Amino acid sequence: MNLLSRGLQASASLASLTWPIAGRLFREKLEIDENGSVWAAGTPDYQPGPPLVGDTTADLAIIGGGFTGTSTAYHFSRRYPEKQVVLLEAGSLANGASGRNGGMLLNWLPLDPPPNPEIDALIYRTTNAGMDTIEEIIRRHDLTVSYRRDGTLSVFTSPERAEYAHAKVEYHRSLGLPSQFIDRSTLAQNFRLEGAYGGVLDPNSGQLNGAQYVRSQRPVLIEQGVEIYERTPVLTVEEGRDIILTTPSGTVRAKAIVLATNGYTSKLGYFRDAIFPVVSHVFATAPLDPAQQLGWRKWAGFYDDMDRISYSSVTKEGQVIFGGGSPMGSAYNFNNGTRFNGSTSEASRISESVQEAFRRYVPGGVAVPIAQRWSGTLGLTLKRNILMGVRGDTRNVFYAVGFNGHGVTLGNVAGQVLTDIYSGDDQQWRGLPFYQDNYTRVPPEPFRWVGFQLFSRLAGHLPRY
Ligand SMILES: Cc1cc2nc3c(=O)[nH]c(=O)nc-3n(C[C@H](O)[C@H](O)[C@H](O)COP(=O)(O)OP(=O)(O)OC[C@H]3O[C@@H](n4cnc5c(N)ncnc54)[C@H](O)[C@@H]3O)c2cc1C
Repeated sequence: MNLLSRGLQASASLASLTWPIAGRLFREKLEIDENGSVWAAGTPDYQPGPPLVGDTTADLAIIGGGFTGTSTAYHFSRRYPEKQVVLLEAGSLANGASGRNGGMLLNWLPLDPPPNPEIDALIYRTTNAGMDTIEEIIRRHDLTVSYRRDGTLSVFTSPERAEYAHAKVEYHRSLGLPSQFIDRSTLAQNFRLEGAYGGVLDPNSGQLNGAQYVRSQRPVLIEQGVEIYERTPVLTVEEGRDIILTTPSGTVRAKAIVLATNGYTSKLGYFRDAIFPVVSHVFATAPLDPAQQLGWRKWAGFYDDMDRISYSSVTKEGQVIFGGGSPMGSAYNFNNGTRFNGSTSEASRISESVQEAFRRYVPGGVAVPIAQRWSGTLGLTLKRNILMGVRGDTRNVFYAVGFNGHGVTLGNVAGQVLTDIYSGDDQQWRGLPFYQDNYTRVPPEPFRWVGFQLFSRLAGHLPRY
């Protein structure tokens, strides 16, 4: 860590001391915008269900209808068919990051020291089993979901980093993990990327249309007895033995709740000092022939090793999805803003800069026809650790939040983890780096916004996720 980063971190710790005052001064407001992603376009007939009107009760009330909320509803209602489960979603199912992401269905591959063989292998087994479960659910309920699992690449843009990655693959293999080092010429033959010196292939990972996956589960969940209310933002949470949730036209009295609100969680007053939302910009091309036009003959996608991370995946239908990669590709909005508030011309400028980042990777800078562009909100933590567990005086507030860039798989694992914690049968998750983990405090406003600008502009970094 360089001197500037150290200085910024020390200032962040000092600024965090002002939380008691600043937290009250800067009130937050829930902002939900429309999901304009290519994934949502893959569910043209989807209509959000009715909102909650009147008062109801629940054994478990889940706030948020993305991967985390629906996976919890799924696993919990199968384990406890007799219990009343209510799911409340402010917009429509998959309106948040789950329906707007880069589509990369990833394992968590250990790349950074210090190595911890037992935990590293357990993490990989956990995420890989999570992807198996997604496939199993698709098959079990015959869901119409476009997905692929033919491997993704972590790509390295300097000879030194590629060499380091090579050494890491040796470590992975010593743990029994199937990752493979792809050297520069093999990469050029199979997945041509300008400026790439090598990559780590995880053959088990792939790509998932999250909007199709989440939305196609609605009838399954209803069949399993889950009451789903869409267009129902939870406005307040009053904790106690029974928790009262207030919505615009009704209330829920619940014995336990789940915070499945990731980047939006601070709006409910929770984890304000733990998670900061970052709005990331993505585009999708029209269907291409990726092998012919780009030299992408194999594998579902890649992400790179740059501070301003680029991520890209290819749908089975040949649409290339690309996000990040440019200084404008991701931004923090003052006071935890969760939507892109810029003008149309600003959106065009951002989109152009993200396309420019894409062209740097494409031989000859080939121009591709853009079909859609959109943005979505990630929930980042300072240490990039995910937070799953239970809290509250009566230990009835369950949460799985702060997924950073790893929520496609882990948001879907979250439902199993939370159901097991609820049951008291959570042995298998203990020791994993997200289980009841603590976090580094993020300072309140205005230090948070200033800190992000300093970090991203002065230090030239954008937080990797
Ligand atoms: C642009 C982008 C690219 C990404 N790329 C990848 C990737 O390639 N691979 C990967 O693994 N991860 C990726 N991620 C991260 C991943 O998508 C998320 O971590 C994951 O979807 C989180 O799922 P979730 O269900 O916890 O949250 P979300 O999907 O955000 O769901 C939260 C839901 O809660 C609802 N909500 C919020 N507040 C309230 C309230 N008060 N009342 C009721 N409802 C509420 C929201 O409307 C939303 O639908 C990306 C994210 C973004 C934004």
